[in-house]
Amino acid sequence: MSDVRVRFAPSPTGSTHIGTARTALFNWLYARQNDGVFVLRIEDTDKERNTEAALEELLDGLEWLGLDWDEGPGKDGPYGPYFQSQRSDIYQAHLQTLKDKGRAYERDGAVYFKLEGERYTEFDSYANAEIEKVRAEPVVIDDLIRGQVTRKEERDFVIQRSNGDPSFHFVNVVDDIEMKITHVIRGEDHLSNTSKHVELFNAFEATPPKFAHLPMILKDPREGKGKMSKRDKGALISEYKERNFLPEAVVNFIALLGWSPKDDQESLTIDALVSRFNLNDVQKGGARFDEKKMSHLNFERMKSMDLSEYVSTARASLENAGLASSDTDDAYLSSALALCQEKIDSFENLPEFAAYFFSEDYAVVEKAEKKVMQKDGAVDRLDEIAPRLAALEKWDQTSIDSAFNQLADEKDLKPFAWYPVVRFAVSGTNSGPDFLPMLETLGKERVLKRIDNARERYRP
Ligand code: GLU
Repeated sequence: MSDVRVRFAPSPTGSTHIGTARTALFNWLYARQNDGVFVLRIEDTDKERNTEAALEELLDGLEWLGLDWDEGPGKDGPYGPYFQSQRSDIYQAHLQTLKDKGRAYERDGAVYFKLEGERYTEFDSYANAEIEKVRAEPVVIDDLIRGQVTRKEERDFVIQRSNGDPSFHFVNVVDDIEMKITHVIRGEDHLSNTSKHVELFNAFEATPPKFAHLPMILKDPREGKGKMSKRDKGALISEYKERNFLPEAVVNFIALLGWSPKDDQESLTIDALVSRFNLNDVQKGGARFDEKKMSHLNFERMKSMDLSEYVSTARASLENAGLASSDTDDAYLSSALALCQEKIDSFENLPEFAAYFFSEDYAVVEKAEKKVMQKDGAVDRLDEIAPRLAALEKWDQTSIDSAFNQLADEKDLKPFAWYPVVRFAVSGTNSGPDFLPMLETLGKERVLKRIDNARERYRP
């Protein structure tokens, strides 16, 4: 194990946003590729805004994405507890340290951090008052993504509120010191806080960690301009889960929000991401959200799954839709799904696509019905093929194929003259998996029964 220790430090105040998941992922990838430790620290000091439900959703989301932590809730480590709400003693001791060093003072019931430097007063039109400012040394932040960023603090800031709660800046830094964090990887929105943080590290005589501030996520250009918000489509992790996207594909997608591999090979497994991800290659500019890319990566991943993996994921999606149950026959399920795998790009669409394999209550596509069944002779075609299929002793593609061919020869037509009507009769639509394998899989009994139903229903 190396000495790399990174942390993901969410405040569980609402639904888990894709940007939050990206921060988690980039920290996780960095830890895994450097043989380091990934710490999950819950920043739950804001009692009014933190909720149990948000915490649960966050932990579920991380688990679903496969981002396991080495220290954190449920995983004790040497620097716990990992909930800030349980670390008051540690914060009090550190507050005392700053007071002892002459770097903290009380005013109006709150505790302020004292900057070093010459003090002067200035009229502030915003506050409409004279305020005290400090000529402090500029802080140089060495950011792995942004290079050197120089910022200056010029006012003392609160580290403990008048109600006794320590401030975000204070607990964040105390914990990074105490948890021996070597790299802070977080959203760009925290860059403006970093000079305060570095001031605090310096006051504690601790070496600041290396920083890496990740670019903002911007709206899909098809949806609008500016920063992506919680209300935008695709903004919440729970949405991806509900839509049955594969977690590996979601991880792949999130990894590309601000980072890309040099050869533009975007469809990457988690192992490939761990070895290829490079924090130094993360872009500075905003990362565009692209919903189409999500579907594409999901499809790539679905196609590359081996059948047993595909079947077990698909089974869950069919069970949720009420189309399969625990007694659905495995062999039947596998052969039906093998026909669907190449054809559909998300498990979200699977129940609709594959319903007729599993239920008699499947939708009839009106357009297909018009196109196929309103043609003259459509029912005659069914009348002709039905007895020949019924007479087959063996029900496999070759025998089914020869039944169609014989009939076609006799009528001096191509077998395709019968395919669309039969396809429609057995599936309610005019597109889908390869025709002959589909008939074989559906089985003789189902096929004949559905052809008979259609003959009755559509006879003019
Ligand atoms: N609790 C902060 C947040 O959720 C963490 C900031 C940090 O990573 O330092 O934004």
